[in-house]
Amino acid sequence: MNLIETDDERAFRADVQGWMRSHLQGEFEPLRGCHGPGAPGFDGALAKRWEQTLARAGWVGIGWPREAGGAAMPLAQQMIFHEEYVRGGGPGRLGHIGEQLLAPTLIAYGTDEQKARFLPGIRAGTAYWAQGYSEPGAGSDLANVRTRARRDAASGDWVIDGQKVWTSWAHESDWIFVLARTEPGSERHQGLTLLLVPLHQDGITIRPIRQMTGSAEFNEVFFDGARTEGALHLGAPGQGWKVAMALLGFERGVSTLGQQAHFRHELDLVIETARANGAARDALLRQRIAQAALGLATLRFHALRLLGAQDGALPGAAYTSKYAWSNWRRDLGRLAMDVLGAAGDVVDDDTTRQRLQLLWLGSRADTIYAGTNEIQLNQIAERALGMPR
Ligand SMILES: Cc1cc2nc3c(=O)[nH]c(=O)nc-3n(C[C@H](O)[C@H](O)[C@H](O)COP(=O)(O)OP(=O)(O)OC[C@H]3O[C@@H](n4cnc5c(N)ncnc54)[C@H](O)[C@@H]3O)c2cc1C
Repeated sequence: MNLIETDDERAFRADVQGWMRSHLQGEFEPLRGCHGPGAPGFDGALAKRWEQTLARAGWVGIGWPREAGGAAMPLAQQMIFHEEYVRGGGPGRLGHIGEQLLAPTLIAYGTDEQKARFLPGIRAGTAYWAQGYSEPGAGSDLANVRTRARRDAASGDWVIDGQKVWTSWAHESDWIFVLARTEPGSERHQGLTLLLVPLHQDGITIRPIRQMTGSAEFNEVFFDGARTEGALHLGAPGQGWKVAMALLGFERGVSTLGQQAHFRHELDLVIETARANGAARDALLRQRIAQAALGLATLRFHALRLLGAQDGALPGAAYTSKYAWSNWRRDLGRLAMDVLGAAGDVVDDDTTRQRLQLLWLGSRADTIYAGTNEIQLNQIAERALGMPR
């Protein structure tokens, strides 16, 4: 990927800036800078209207192929869109799981009927998805999934029993993709199927989990004879592990394009605060801020290099991304609190302080979701460096 912007890219950047200025206002003003469903006072209905506004303007599915209803934008343009979206104050994207995780997996593994049925709703911002992987006994050890699904002989439907946990945004979603054991007696990676399941039905109970931020961004989801149509397995029955891993690849890969811009925004807030409250006069804090800035530049170049490389051109390098960005952000959270000093303990209406406090609390989750630090290190050791288990 070329790091020098072309005239067309500069013009595109100006278009996104203009669009953000003219649309993120009026009724959408409360969403400005809001990081998503975990933010205080988050309004799900308003966030969905915002997603639909983005969709009408063609900003959903910008990286999808045209035949899937997307804009097939080159990576450089996608990056510019994400940068200007965050710079313009764009809120965390409620459609993220559908647009960035499920859609590419549907495009790769879905039947024509599944694509025709599900992609338009994601593209229009009218259908929201949750990710049903983790269970009380299956997090890092995802192959230990115990949720079961069987075919109902009369209707052909899948009937699901079990429990998922930490299910982000399930309370705002319409559908969930569920990794379930469909071959009784099967073990580990065998006999699993990825099912597409409607959330609004009697057999499903969604119970919010309150987090240390005070809000409830994720949930427990209970399946008690829940149903989905017989044709709604993504990939072949029993082959769900392969599809589930492909989806995780999208979660850790291209879907993080917008992250860099978001991180830059957070770092800028830390720097502004340090300038305003005098923390920048402290030589050690100044050094940590400089290190954070260098770390972010390195993350950015690493991401650009990876995303611009041909498949397989940088063996091993892809494994390091998640570990690198999540540790960088966890350290930024600590730095934010140190820059605030004693004021970091104060709970009040100061929005900058609230954002930095949320950055600190939220960053504690980064080294857990989408694969914990220890699991990432195992993968780097075993898969990238070829070391023994
Ligand atoms: C904010 C957030 C949002 C999430 N959203 C979702 C979601 O939408 N859908 C979903 O399905 N899940 C979601 N998760 C769950 C997430 O995927 C799991 O928390 C994660 O996979 C870790 O699993 P666990 O919590 O069961 O921890 P465990 O797997 O029990 O791990 C506990 C500790 O043991 C360590 N450990 C475990 N195995 C090994 C090993 N082999 N070697 C070395 N150390 C090991 C881990 O690194 C960790 O430190 C979310 C989590 C968070 C924090």
